[in-house]
Amino acid sequence: MKKIKSNLALQIFIALVLAIVVGLLMSKQVAFANAYIKPFGTIFLNLLKFIVCPIVLFSILCGMISMKDIRKVGSIGLKTIVYYMLTTAVAIVIGLLMGQLMKGFFPVLSTSDLVYEAKEPTPFMNVLVDIFPSNFLAPLVNANMLQIIVIALFVGFGIILVGEKADGVRVLIQQLNDVFMKVMELILKLSPIGVFCLLTPVVAENGAKIIGSLAMVLLTAYISYVIHALVVYSTTVRTMGGVSPLKFFKGMAPAMIFAFSSASSVGTLPLNMECCEKLGADKETTAFVLPLGATINMDGTAIYQGVCAIFIASCFGIDLTLGEMATIVVTATLASIGTAGVPGAGMVMLAMVLTSVGLPVEGIALVAGVDRIFDMGRTVLNITGDASCALIVSSMERKAEQKKLSQ
Ligand code: ASP
Repeated sequence: MKKIKSNLALQIFIALVLAIVVGLLMSKQVAFANAYIKPFGTIFLNLLKFIVCPIVLFSILCGMISMKDIRKVGSIGLKTIVYYMLTTAVAIVIGLLMGQLMKGFFPVLSTSDLVYEAKEPTPFMNVLVDIFPSNFLAPLVNANMLQIIVIALFVGFGIILVGEKADGVRVLIQQLNDVFMKVMELILKLSPIGVFCLLTPVVAENGAKIIGSLAMVLLTAYISYVIHALVVYSTTVRTMGGVSPLKFFKGMAPAMIFAFSSASSVGTLPLNMECCEKLGADKETTAFVLPLGATINMDGTAIYQGVCAIFIASCFGIDLTLGEMATIVVTATLASIGTAGVPGAGMVMLAMVLTSVGLPVEGIALVAGVDRIFDMGRTVLNITGDASCALIVSSMERKAEQKKLSQ
């Protein structure tokens, strides 16, 4: 009992098991679960969303201030973006390969009366322009992560360049960071309740659907998620991060379970930061790499898009050519930059991927009903990819520093 009380990871795991059991038992009381259990999950998610903006702003600022050197920020940024892009490209290739391999087992659903109101996907140049804020406060009010990162980078550079004269600001930022971190710690103590209340209604509503007609497509996506995690992340954290894969996945378990229940990378950010730091990632690196990853790195989403593209094409009786698949690799990698780390965002971006190879967007209607089940798995992979990057970049930076010292 004492062990359970002191171990948040164990509490979250128990909450997960309980939610599955209670959810399955409540499959006939979906309305009740949605009306009376889900709101507590929403309260918890709201609290996380409320804390995430100040945490991202102040932790990046603190990280930058303690780096003192502008070049170090650039070096971390470059490594992070290259790692994110490469792993996402690998993820989509795995998704497409697995889709092709399993295609024979996919159901061929009727496409004659499909209707899907596709939201206009944002063109890439607009995504680029939208990274830069035109107002200092709006990004904080709208929780626009990329813009908050840009603000933090500019203000951080400003503080570094002003030097000693900005010592007061430096101390204030560090103190504010400590305060917000404490608030986050308090909120995170509630995560087991959050997991239970978020997951129970989802299981109650979708439990039976898993065995439905889309089971093979879901299974293909989940097998691909697992392959990507076990092959790609195990290899990268071991070879470049110096961490054993077992230790990595064990340390990441609380954040992974939370991502599974909330389907939100942004909501999982605070817990992910804590897990990474416990695994030995540097505070300043984590503060930069994870918020960036929660917005631009979506390996799980990329896999889902690959599998769904193959499935939708096969329902329409279309065989994708190698060239079309290459187009999907490029579009899905870029689409992952524009995908917000919130539930359901990946499905909207699927429209962009389908359009790039001329597949009918209405096809999304075929998978929309079970999107949440795809989403839970893809979010787990999304945040695990971010964490692997934090560990790897931390270790690379440490090695570079040691090399510098020994010269
Ligand atoms: N829910 C995912 C996330 O937050 C995004 C997606 O819908 O694929 O990471």
